[in-house]
Amino acid sequence: MLRPATTRMAMRQTSRLLSTVKLTSTTNSYPTGHVDASASPYITPSFINNKLVKSESKTWYDIHDPATNQVISKVPQSTPEELEQAIDAAHRAFPVWKNYSVIKRQGIAFKFVQLLRENMDRIAGVIVLEQGKTFADAKGDVLRGLQVAEAACNVTNDLKGQTLEVAKDMETKMIREPLGVIGSICPFNFPAMVPLWSLPLVLVTGNTAVIKPSERVPGAAMIIAELVAQAGVPEGVVSIVHGKHDTVNKIIEDPRIKAITFVGGDKAGKYIYEKGSALGKRVQANLGAKNHLVVLPDADKNQFVNAVVGAAFGAAGQRCMAISVLVTVGKTKEWVSDVVAAARDLKVGSGFDSKSDVGPLINPEALTRSHEIIADSVKQGAELLLDGTKFVGEGAFSKGNFLGPTILSGTKPGIRAYDEEIFAPVLAIVNVETLEEAIQVVNSNKYGNGVALFTKSGPAAQAFTKNIEAGQVGINVPIPVPLPMFSFTGNKGSFLGDLNFYGQAGITFLTQPKTITTLWKTDNVEEELRPSTSMPTQQ
Ligand code: NAD
Repeated sequence: MLRPATTRMAMRQTSRLLSTVKLTSTTNSYPTGHVDASASPYITPSFINNKLVKSESKTWYDIHDPATNQVISKVPQSTPEELEQAIDAAHRAFPVWKNYSVIKRQGIAFKFVQLLRENMDRIAGVIVLEQGKTFADAKGDVLRGLQVAEAACNVTNDLKGQTLEVAKDMETKMIREPLGVIGSICPFNFPAMVPLWSLPLVLVTGNTAVIKPSERVPGAAMIIAELVAQAGVPEGVVSIVHGKHDTVNKIIEDPRIKAITFVGGDKAGKYIYEKGSALGKRVQANLGAKNHLVVLPDADKNQFVNAVVGAAFGAAGQRCMAISVLVTVGKTKEWVSDVVAAARDLKVGSGFDSKSDVGPLINPEALTRSHEIIADSVKQGAELLLDGTKFVGEGAFSKGNFLGPTILSGTKPGIRAYDEEIFAPVLAIVNVETLEEAIQVVNSNKYGNGVALFTKSGPAAQAFTKNIEAGQVGINVPIPVPLPMFSFTGNKGSFLGDLNFYGQAGITFLTQPKTITTLWKTDNVEEELRPSTSMPTQQ
């Protein structure tokens, strides 16, 4: 029988072989410093059928070291043919992988965890080079993803079905089955953690994956892909593709991709959620944020100051759970000078320098935008208590995207530093008189990712947790991201979808229920003399 023309075309496309390449890092050899200005950029491969392959694209994007703005790597816009190959590989691998026993998939997950742990410094080194965060923070990026992989090893419990003898000799069991190919679209700020928010669960539940890392920081995902293959997943189970809108649109539109996990900004997330949902796909989309930390006068001052400074300026404020608004209640406005002093003491510099606390922003555009928001906010009435805009690095770092910790007081809705997610080391301060007012300020914000309260009062904490709308609440914990036995529960404008990332919700998102009802009669079967056409009433 003749195959339809489109199928023949796909067969021809998938038979084309791309040349294989090696990653420049290994478990024991990885970036520990910035690249020499004379070094030529390395090529970021794609990952198809367990092979690292070189794209034949004519369109390549530069990847810059944010600390120097030197071009260190090139990443392709995957060609339509390569996207087809990657999705086709994941689609073909699905029935094979789905039929691996759960215990075999669990064994591979254990091995994957071990490999991630062995390669933690390597992945962190590549993150520092491409993303800019400090090495210690980059290790945290890997660790928080590794913890999801560890939790995924519990799949033999998490995937247990339900069964009941519902009538005499009749049993119903409910199981959860994988969906098929899952597309993942990732942001720049957590190059390892975000791909690992979904990949381990995608794998243990029997799905296959097509991942698009951020085109700004693809290196960590490539190492993760190499480790997945070493852990023993069959060919095709994981594909990694690259690029911008064309790749995203292919992931949204291709009918072989059944669900999409997205983490990133509001604009892309809304587009992907709406378009994917309209095409009948499941989509979970974690979006932007504006996280408040409220401090009451009975709080431990030192604990509060250290917490707010770490949470506002760590990772140069480029965390979706970074504290970007401090709400001082009553006389705690007097503690702002301590916050400014502690922030001023932070060392801004290269992520490879173990003394650095704050690395660069991701690109010059992010730096320019931050400068504009700070300047506009001052024009709108905010007071600049600490100005990081004048920071200039030394030598090669003078070209980096550095912004020192910046603090603006007297902010409120209508002032840009309060209204917009800046995604930079900028802290906006609001002062109110009561806890009720503070709760109102937080709840009026469109976002609902995280919030923190610092206090020694149990009743105040109780009232806060009951009345606050944000989805992740910390009491004396500034960045309350739950460990992966729970889920990441941002809400309101910070999330689109019904089921959150990882934890039980993550497994539910990646699987669908199937019920099987079985009758094995122990009575004499010959008693049934004629067919029954009425609804069964068997008891
Ligand atoms: P981004 O939205 O610019 O990019 C995310 C991904 O979407 C990238 O892979 C990118 O290639 C793609 N993309 C970008 N613009 C697109 C468009 N118009 N159409 C289709 N695809 C597009 O986000 P980013 O700058 O990489 O990451 C920072 C943002 O991510 C911040 O807003 C931050 O709050 C958010 N974030 C949220 C969470 C969370 O859990 N809520 C976690 C991390 C980051």
